[in-house]
Amino acid sequence: MEPPHVIVLPYPSQGHINPLLQFAKRLASKGVKATLATTHYTLRSIGAGAVAVEPISDGFDHGGFAEAHNEDTYLKSFRENGSKSLSKLIWKYKNTSSPVSCIIYDSFLPWALDVAKQHGIFGASFFTNSATVCAVFSHIHRGTLTLPVKMEHEPLLLPGLPPLYDCDIPGFIKVPESYPAYLAMKMNQFLNLDKADFVFDNSFQELEGQEATSVEKWWPAKLIGPMVPSAYLDGRIEGDKGYGASLWKPLSEQCTSWLKTKPQESVIYISFGSMVSLTSKQMAEIAWALTCSNSYFLWVVRETERRKLPTHFVESTNGKGLIVAWCNQLELLAHPAVGCFVTHCGWNSTLEGLSLGMPMVAIPQWSDQMTDAKFIEDIWRVGVRAKEDEFGIASREEVLFCLKEVMEGERSEEMKRNARKWRELAKRAIDEGGSSDKAIDEFVKQLKISTG
Ligand code: UDP
Repeated sequence: MEPPHVIVLPYPSQGHINPLLQFAKRLASKGVKATLATTHYTLRSIGAGAVAVEPISDGFDHGGFAEAHNEDTYLKSFRENGSKSLSKLIWKYKNTSSPVSCIIYDSFLPWALDVAKQHGIFGASFFTNSATVCAVFSHIHRGTLTLPVKMEHEPLLLPGLPPLYDCDIPGFIKVPESYPAYLAMKMNQFLNLDKADFVFDNSFQELEGQEATSVEKWWPAKLIGPMVPSAYLDGRIEGDKGYGASLWKPLSEQCTSWLKTKPQESVIYISFGSMVSLTSKQMAEIAWALTCSNSYFLWVVRETERRKLPTHFVESTNGKGLIVAWCNQLELLAHPAVGCFVTHCGWNSTLEGLSLGMPMVAIPQWSDQMTDAKFIEDIWRVGVRAKEDEFGIASREEVLFCLKEVMEGERSEEMKRNARKWRELAKRAIDEGGSSDKAIDEFVKQLKISTG
């Protein structure tokens, strides 16, 4: 009998391709034929191993998102062109020995479910953010929470969730007019969700079971994460290239040969992910704190951000610091020389930090990152969060305090202990028979029955 065939469709940004590609690989390891459908522009950055890769059109085949004038234009074009090319892709396999039986689509692309239904196949929505964030947005979708969500004095109290103070609430819903296209994209995830045959979230039962359960009647998601390559969780990382998708070239050799010469847990690793754009002021505050920390540091500053670094900063680090344009983050978080992760708290980075047992300094910037930061500090207790001043800046003294707290402060040992505990729980969730592994097996079983 031929294995069931799924098409996996990520939103074409680094933080979405990584977990969906990893899911495709996990399904392939369980005997499912998985094809990643990705935009022409991102296709060249992906080496997917056991997963086939097929192009799909967003209407900007040469330059991707950067070619569109704005988010609205991009999303509209992706919807129109993507629907057609996804449909063509399903047709391509229709009369072969492996017709497509399910589209696993990024929840940011709900139109893919309509395509699945037109072809009479399963549609599975995959959420790439935390269950908590999904719960908050579910409440808005259901009308039990109204926009704007601004908590001046009291915290926001939602069933099953810890009290969320104003600084913990996702930015898009506090000031809905700030990023209207992104807010619409977040809300549209729920529009046709009741028609989806499966709903998945990149989280795990032990981490956010309670938060997911609190809204399961509206958002019946199976927690199947963390979607971090198992090799890293198992400590078998020799020669592993990470997710197998990198939109920028990782400077692995430069990073590892520099790290090789550094003592255990002596290096602070800093990254703000693939999208955040810091102000020059915030960069200067962080640069100052790093210089004064007396620790080694490795800072990922994307090419487009580099001009914001203080003048002569790079030369002034005197071998204590290395600044690179991009790296394989997993490789760094798994390196014995790294002892602290300064993160913007994107959901993938948060899960990677937890899964690799790394204590964190949270400096959230926008979107859901504030909510993730709250959990890092208060719920999972694996890090400290740099507080912002009245201008929205984490000051140099504040960042320095947080760095010291994680590297050598009073709470350092407790955070390291908790980080090790979460690493163990993350590994257990995806190991054979673990909570996420079982949820994936159940999905595979249903696919196999349907293709019978
Ligand atoms: N990443 C990487 N190299 C870097 C910085 C980030 O490989 O130098 C990866 C990181 O491992 C994560 C993704 O990029 O999987 C970023 O996703 P996240 O959700 O953390 O943040 P976003 O970029 O979406 O804001």
